Amino acid sequence: MQQLVFATNNAHKLEEVQAKAGTQIKLLTLNDIGCQDDIEETGFTFNENASIKSRHIYQKYNLNCFGDDSGLEIEALNNEPGIYSARYAGKHGDHEANMDKVLNNLKGETNRKARFRTVISLIWNGDEHFFDGIVNGTIRHERCGTAGFGYDPIFQPDGYEITFAEMSMEEKNRISHRGRAVDLLISFLNAQPKA
Ligand code: IMP
Repeated sequence: MQQLVFATNNAHKLEEVQAKAGTQIKLLTLNDIGCQDDIEETGFTFNENASIKSRHIYQKYNLNCFGDDSGLEIEALNNEPGIYSARYAGKHGDHEANMDKVLNNLKGETNRKARFRTVISLIWNGDEHFFDGIVNGTIRHERCGTAGFGYDPIFQPDGYEITFAEMSMEEKNRISHRGRAVDLLISFLNAQPKA
């Protein structure tokens, strides 16, 4: 069985990607390979931040690996919060404050168009490959739903009348930015010669 490092310790993300990868590929986390490094996201694009993670692992451990970076881009806010999505209101991971800031910044704004993006950087046998997943939608005026995380309660994907936070995890994963980027990654891996 092939092994592949996912440069994360986020159990939720690992479970989601391992479910799509099936039994042919065993994913390892940073903890699994004994990496305690705090890999800082110092890039200015999703690609750069995803690359920083995958390259760090490849250079230090010489293992096939991938890293990801995601965020929300709002058209009327010049694509903010973008790479700063996790810390838009200041504190890292304060989802309630981040949503409040978005809703305040969009007060009176009629253009509510937004999109979530995920970029995956895979280093496979020394070569880097990028996989980009996007889901378009709109920002609601108020929160709706309690599932998911982050900006899910205020994001309504195009073609739906409900927010991400009102969907089951399976339904969200099927259409989400992350789900789409992961599907591209898995297709690439499945097309590679088996070791
Ligand atoms: P990460 O790079 O996947 O850790 O995502 C960075 C930040 O983007 C998260 O902390 C969230 O604020 C936001 N984000 C990314 N993906 C999602 C999602 O699927 N739903 C809601 N917010 C998300």
